[in-house]
Amino acid sequence: MSVQRLIIMSNRGPYHIHVTKQGIKREKTVGGLVTSILPMVERWGGVWISWGEPEGRYPGSAKPLNFDLHYIGLTPEELQGYYLGLANNALWPLCHYFLGRVHYDNSQWQMYQQVNRKFAKVALEEAQAGDLIWVHDYHLACVPQYLREAQTSNRIVFFWHIPFPAAELFRTLPWRRPFLESLLACDLIGFHVPEFAENFIETAIEVLDAQFKGSSLEYGGRTTQIIARPIGIDYVGVAKQAQSSITEKRVRGLRKTLNGQKIILGVERMDYTKGIVERLQAMEYLLEHHPELRRSITLVQLVTPSRADVEAYRQRKREIDEMVGRINGRFSDGIWVPIRYQYRSFSPAELVAYYRAADIALVTPLRDGLNLVAKEYVASRTQTDGVLILSEFAGVARQLLEALMVNPYSSEDMAGIIVQALQMPKDEQRKRMQAMQDRIKREDINWWAEEFLNQKVCLEDRKDL
Ligand code: UDP
Repeated sequence: MSVQRLIIMSNRGPYHIHVTKQGIKREKTVGGLVTSILPMVERWGGVWISWGEPEGRYPGSAKPLNFDLHYIGLTPEELQGYYLGLANNALWPLCHYFLGRVHYDNSQWQMYQQVNRKFAKVALEEAQAGDLIWVHDYHLACVPQYLREAQTSNRIVFFWHIPFPAAELFRTLPWRRPFLESLLACDLIGFHVPEFAENFIETAIEVLDAQFKGSSLEYGGRTTQIIARPIGIDYVGVAKQAQSSITEKRVRGLRKTLNGQKIILGVERMDYTKGIVERLQAMEYLLEHHPELRRSITLVQLVTPSRADVEAYRQRKREIDEMVGRINGRFSDGIWVPIRYQYRSFSPAELVAYYRAADIALVTPLRDGLNLVAKEYVASRTQTDGVLILSEFAGVARQLLEALMVNPYSSEDMAGIIVQALQMPKDEQRKRMQAMQDRIKREDINWWAEEFLNQKVCLEDRKDL
């Protein structure tokens, strides 16, 4: 048996591939999942299978990279049904508790299965004996079942990156049985926090009559271990970037532009789950009820374009554009503008400068699997000051207990917490920040990877131990 490698499977890959006259150029993609998994696969080696163009296999040795890329091409119909349809219009809103936005369509389910079969076929071609197949996220839930149908003997691990909702909600999915059966074809399933794992267990018991024993579900003659571990960040890397001279220069520039005002920062993809509209409402409420704060604070709201081919996302963008315009029109005074809004993609280095410059980070999603921005903000605060305001509905709230917790649905609550953050003495800021830093430094991305790879079910084939 060969030494174990990782076969990573995810909807999006870690690089955009550009074929040029000089050869293949790789450009890193942006996003939470990729940022977290990349260091792991770089360390362990293997193959990363994802949807991507141009379709094909890109050996890592073409330009030193410790793993190969395998991009699967999808037809427009497949993309429409699998990605824009079932993943983004059904599973995403369902798992984030937005039942009113859920749209179930059987033809989309057919496409989802067809695409999952394509992924499974490629994994079967790539996997060698002893490799660990690690499937990521809700786009690929049927892959484990197809792998088992092909009698693969490889271990299969799944990580579910978004919330897993209460059984009562998940049961509305018309294809709940095959969906759950496939997940239970894995040896191990991971979630960020215990609440999501508990929801999954309860759903499997209710829908499939699975048995729960110890920390595992038993179903159809197979045992699947369930664990909860919140994904980590490259803490040392982020902190190092935060202390670099280029970041220092950027921070000085930002502070100068904002004329000494207190900076409140929001960073997210354009997504209705992120609570951007609710945050703007809270900001308006704050400026209305606390006129003394006008001219002394600025909300810097960075929004990254996302899923712009889904109508619900385009609509949300229009709403946000209008709200920002209206609030700025209402409160701007002289050269002071209450909301600085930018709609584009930011490099990790740029984001770190914003984190460093911000007195307060407002991370207030209506529901979130974890939220890496919150962790990156904490890791960037190398002077151990600053205040993190965190939605109680973000998975990371279970880990960053010293943040100021808020109910993002309440403008009053949010405004009150912002005032509290603005008044927080430095000593208290330091105490809270230090505790959060200690925890996420310990529970970083390497810790997370080891927590999975050192589970007994993953160890059995490993020769290196
Ligand atoms: N990010 C980035 N550029 C941007 C916006 C976000 O590099 O313009 C990164 C951010 O640093 C973080 C990730 O994308 O690592 C977002 O992860 P998070 O868990 O906060 O949210 P998600 O977008 O995965 O729902």
